[in-house]
Amino acid sequence: MIKRFIRRVFGLRGDAPIRTPRSKHGLSREEISPGALKVCDGLREAGFSAYVVGGAVRDLLLGTEPKDFDVATDARPEQIKPLFRRALIIGRRFRLVHVMVGRETVETSTFRAADPETSVAGSARAEGTRVQDEHGRVLRDNVFGSQAEDARRRDFTVNALYFDPATEGVIDYHGGLADLKKRVLRVIGDPATRYREDPVRMLRAVRLAAKLGLTLDADTRAPIRRLAPLMERVPPARLFDEMLKLLLSGHASACLRQLRDEGLHHGVLPLLDVILEQPLDERFVTLALAQTDERVLTDRPVSPAFLFAALLWHEVLAAWRAREKRGERPIVALEEAMDEVLDAQCEKLAITRRLTATMREVWVMQPRFEQRSGVRAQRLLEAPRFRMAYDFLALRAASGEVPAELETWWRAFQSADADSRKAMLVPETGPTKKRRRRRRKKAAPARDASPA
Ligand code: ATP
Ligand code: MG
Repeated sequence: MIKRFIRRVFGLRGDAPIRTPRSKHGLSREEISPGALKVCDGLREAGFSAYVVGGAVRDLLLGTEPKDFDVATDARPEQIKPLFRRALIIGRRFRLVHVMVGRETVETSTFRAADPETSVAGSARAEGTRVQDEHGRVLRDNVFGSQAEDARRRDFTVNALYFDPATEGVIDYHGGLADLKKRVLRVIGDPATRYREDPVRMLRAVRLAAKLGLTLDADTRAPIRRLAPLMERVPPARLFDEMLKLLLSGHASACLRQLRDEGLHHGVLPLLDVILEQPLDERFVTLALAQTDERVLTDRPVSPAFLFAALLWHEVLAAWRAREKRGERPIVALEEAMDEVLDAQCEKLAITRRLTATMREVWVMQPRFEQRSGVRAQRLLEAPRFRMAYDFLALRAASGEVPAELETWWRAFQSADADSRKAMLVPETGPTKKRRRRRRKKAAPARDASPA
């Protein structure tokens, strides 16, 4: 206790770990996944030390189920690999080992010192480094270190706990156990320095606090508002990964509220500006996030494409309407509006191409729901993304953007048999072209689309 106090006051590094036996923290071997146990036991039998570390230990101590189990060891990658039947050395600048045990993959890394991947120099150079990597040049080798160094390079005290399955003890360099007990999230070392090294840590602070129901320690919280503009320097692909984690955490609504409270959204992530600054969207976006959280928490699948499509929908709508007002044809205006919005987003946040393709499909299908006559309705029903687009329509109806009756009609239409479907169809206006259900001459013509 006193030791910890002195360390904190004088900013000393916690190089002397505190070992806590199972009787004090309660975490037992049985709670560790079979894969992680096999890896730790195998390494120990070969004379190395091996610990379960990071998010898994933290989550187990908090009583939540970990996403995955990571192992840290003093063995080098080339020493780890031969110990296991299915193991793969991965990573270019940081080599680590993926050990496959049954259907589990255990990420096994050697203790290492500072992390050039996430240090300021690292992120500033990241793009250039990647280019050079493609040409086979490795700028920096692995920087292996001691366990104490490995603990110090981690972001939060609660993420730097090492569980030893052999003794069931927890090794704690930075007071993580005490912080867990107080339910506090605290940066290791000086927060401003650590955020400058890697601004993504600010986003992680908010995400982990919201996800785990922890309070941000005052010193951890204080510099965030001031340093928020540093987020601009984070490579878009990394930002996308972190945002995806945040949005799919099951606590997206809470995370975004906290981002706003910390001033982390403003002018930093265009997406968040969109989500948080426009009252018009509020109901639609709130519903989308609430729905996503609920699906994640009940273990149902969530589509990131659907979520991003929802988060950006009102941006697209606004751009679309503006273009139509300027006299562009509806379908052209919609295509252009989608390009405009996605281009602006992807500059900062690299939404993957696979996602944007699906997002476009979902958006483009929206005006087609207005067509409830003959062949068009039937064709829409057969479109590959129909289900997702329909769910999207349901969200629009729930938020009051389109009449509830439109959604009800489509819900009924989907589940009706062929005869009832026929009866439901609204008569064609204009020249009627009756066709049999499955016969198609051409792909749906572009003029199917009209503004919502
Ligand atoms: P999650 O539950 O989201 O997986 P996590 O803490 O396990 O949370 P990971 O991204 O899986 O997050 O990272 C594993 C560990 O690596 C963390 O617990 C932390 O110790 C360390 N770490 C991750 N990102 C950083 C970072 N930006 N800076 C320092 N350490 C980090
Ligand atoms: Mg993890």
